[in-house]
Amino acid sequence: MSAQTADFQDLFRRVQPAEGGREVFDPATGESVGRAPEASVEDLDAAVARAKAAQPGWAARSDQQRSQLLHSAADAIETHAEGLARLLSQEQGKPLNGPNARFEVGACVAWLRATAEFTLEPEVLVDDDSGKAVLHWRPLGVVGAIGPWNWPMMISIWQLAPSLRQGNTVVIKPSGYTPLSVLALVEVLNTALPQEVLIAVPGRGEVGDRLSRHPDVAKIMFTGSTATGRSIIKAAADTVKRLTMELGGNDAGIVLEDADPEAIAEDLFWGAFINTGQTCAALKRLYVPEPLYDQVCQALVEVAKNMPMGVGLEEQNVLGPLQNKAQWEIVDRLVTAAKDSGARVLIGAEPERNTAGYFYPTTLIADIDPQNPLVVEEQFGPALPIIKYTDLDQAIEWANSLTEALGSSVWSSNPDRAEEVASRLVAGTTWINKHGAIDPRVPFGGARESGFGLEFGLEGLKEVSQPHIISQ
Ligand code: NAD
Repeated sequence: MSAQTADFQDLFRRVQPAEGGREVFDPATGESVGRAPEASVEDLDAAVARAKAAQPGWAARSDQQRSQLLHSAADAIETHAEGLARLLSQEQGKPLNGPNARFEVGACVAWLRATAEFTLEPEVLVDDDSGKAVLHWRPLGVVGAIGPWNWPMMISIWQLAPSLRQGNTVVIKPSGYTPLSVLALVEVLNTALPQEVLIAVPGRGEVGDRLSRHPDVAKIMFTGSTATGRSIIKAAADTVKRLTMELGGNDAGIVLEDADPEAIAEDLFWGAFINTGQTCAALKRLYVPEPLYDQVCQALVEVAKNMPMGVGLEEQNVLGPLQNKAQWEIVDRLVTAAKDSGARVLIGAEPERNTAGYFYPTTLIADIDPQNPLVVEEQFGPALPIIKYTDLDQAIEWANSLTEALGSSVWSSNPDRAEEVASRLVAGTTWINKHGAIDPRVPFGGARESGFGLEFGLEGLKEVSQPHIISQ
């Protein structure tokens, strides 16, 4: 065992309770990963009190100091990168390689460093004979962060990095499915950060609910399902909390007639199957024009056949299991509905049942009705419906017909044409010839019931700040 691995093991032991807690299992093998502590609502209250006490001191540091501390936190992740990636792989299921566990840990570093480099300057709004008005960005206080199980480390960083950068302290509640990844990440970050500015409180929905109602929490950053988002919006109403809601997506991709099927196949594949389909802004329904339909289907099958799925810690794999049984059942129900409707299976759709791991084979479904449940419900797994269209206006109408509107994409060899179609799509982001390609400099957020508020870049910093105007 290398010194670095041994250090990580020590740190990982620290986040587990000496006794009790809840055993967490590897979704690929069913083997134990470790024991997660379970906090009570009283523990949450105590954590918020500590974060509240620490906040003025944190806010009083200079902007430059907070920036440097975020860089130091990024250094700490780099030191423990392999340990974190292996734990993430075992707990979440995602393989080490491909756009998965090592990639996710790398993204944590990239987002921390990018956030450290942004600075939100005061804005002079008026400065003339009539007077002077300046907009300042103050800390909000304590920010509550509630996250999902699909990208547990990266999404935690998206929530906590801008919050800390702006002088807030953070209480973070990880998903009950992936508590250890977030607890270990926070333990690593806290080797660099001052005490009590970042506190993790592992617990179930009731702990998240208390955080959403807590009078001393100024803002909730939430990423998760639209259903939970609705509960949090209601819970936060009594104390008029600020909210950023990153909710469910059912992203459409539209291929135009001038696209080159061979050239786009691999990017289409990863747009849909990144993290084995368990990604908010993954391509979840693909609309293809009739003249290209067979070629696109065939090109996707060729890519899919060559992407190994298996246990995360085995280096050759790039696709893994579903993270949990409930999600496996959603995917199985939707694929079964598609098959029962007479849709054509291009590959996959025959899962092994009653195995230790929650594996669902890479599945492509053609000749499917645009209103089939696999198309109109979020599958959040490795099953992509490919819908044929003959009229582009109709395809755009289908793409825009759902209450979810997180991302979307247009695939074409003509940039002007692609942009024209992109402008007609309703979404927080529309990508051209790629899907889900996020960047810490480019704001990201949803439209319609996919949520509100923006993350990343200067817009992301504004979301965790209180605008304060001084007018004279
Ligand atoms: P989820 O809504 O089930 O859980 C998210 C978090 O909310 C967990 O930490 C959970 O413990 C907590 N929670 C549950 N009930 C709560 C309550 N009443 N009050 C407060 N907190 C509560 O979501 P999930 O299944 O973990 O994640 C998958 C979903 O997240 C998908 O719909 C996906 O599209 C969405 N997602 C969206 C984005 C985005 O950026 N828009 C990113 C990732 C995932």
